[in-house]
Amino acid sequence: MNPITISEVGPRDGLQSVETVMSTADKMTWIETEYRAGVREIEVGSFVSPTVLPQMADTAVVVAGARRFENLVVAVLVPNVRGCEAAIEAGAHKISIPLSLSETHSQKNVRRNHKQMLSEISGCQKLVDQVPLGERPYFEVGLSTAFGCTIEGIVEERFVIEMAARVLDLGVAEVGLSDTTGMGNPAHLERLVTGIWQRCGEARLTGVHLHNTRGQGLANALRAIELGITTLDSSLGGLGGCPFAPGASGNIVTEDLVFMLESMGHETGIDLEALLAVRHQVATLLPEEEWFGFTASAGLPEHFGKTALAETP
Ligand code: ZN
Repeated sequence: MNPITISEVGPRDGLQSVETVMSTADKMTWIETEYRAGVREIEVGSFVSPTVLPQMADTAVVVAGARRFENLVVAVLVPNVRGCEAAIEAGAHKISIPLSLSETHSQKNVRRNHKQMLSEISGCQKLVDQVPLGERPYFEVGLSTAFGCTIEGIVEERFVIEMAARVLDLGVAEVGLSDTTGMGNPAHLERLVTGIWQRCGEARLTGVHLHNTRGQGLANALRAIELGITTLDSSLGGLGGCPFAPGASGNIVTEDLVFMLESMGHETGIDLEALLAVRHQVATLLPEEEWFGFTASAGLPEHFGKTALAETP
């Protein structure tokens, strides 16, 4: 069974959608305890204007703090070249920029149409290329609203594949597929993943970002890893949401995802008991928020992690 990288996006995707502004110290506690539980990639924040998202104003400090943890990939999100510059300066290991396939959503989200976004992406790639090898961050483009948009409705599959190819032609190493609105299903995911693979090559798409808005999150995650996707984004307690669907649950829940993968025999490197303790601790810091996930309420079965694979021939 291939190992799977779980990329925890709670400190970014989660915290940017809650009203509470978490203190830098509390963010660091969250990141450190989740690192100690075995998580090796964490999206710690985004370099956006603090007037738009005051929750993310301390991202540079958080990146510097998170860089102390050995073998932790410190990931950030940027909306444009300016953000990318700040991310490089802060020393982020991985930088993602979202390209919303719904142009209306793109205009609302980052006030740029597709043409303008492609030029931002190209600008970011040029900046990244100037960083000496060895220190150069990994740069990727997240294809958001790839499964549908709350404003535009259907996003054509052919268009998703076409845009993936256009982005990769700019010299970007990789694209990711994001079900921002939680509209995807496993068959849809399979068509998009294989479509991009056939057009652009399997190495150019290895990660997906799924939301559980309609309860399809784990089914989609399972289909993705069966196909050969090796990185899955998720957030502690499913924190995060969609501003266009109030009350809807957000990202897939890290704890439930780890339970599924480890029970199946995929190595995640994560100690689930320790992760549940992190959830408990972070939940006390965000008492206003709704916390999702079944594993935390049901608890771990007694035999978990001991005999799951014993009878496999
Ligand atoms: Zn998300």
